[in-house]
Amino acid sequence: MKSIHCKVFGHDYKISRHVTYHVKEYACKNCKTELTTSGNGDLIALTPKFREINDVLERIHHKRILRKNEPINKVLVKNQAKLRIA
Ligand SMILES: [Zn+2]
Repeated sequence: MKSIHCKVFGHDYKISRHVTYHVKEYACKNCKTELTTSGNGDLIALTPKFREINDVLERIHHKRILRKNEPINKVLVKNQAKLRIA
């Protein structure tokens, strides 16, 4: 469903979702055509398959952020506990 505006002026893509730092989803403001970033950085059509991949990527990405913010103390306490047992 291409609007006449898109045919004449091209699509007007806006970021619709930040999946990771490098992968984003875009949607055209006028006709709702959706794109995403592929593995090699090109923009490709957002098919249900890619949406699924992005869901997984997003989950992994969020987990990584959480782990990065895990306080170093927690790691230290874990190691100290091990020492005490030994
Ligand atoms: Zn469009």
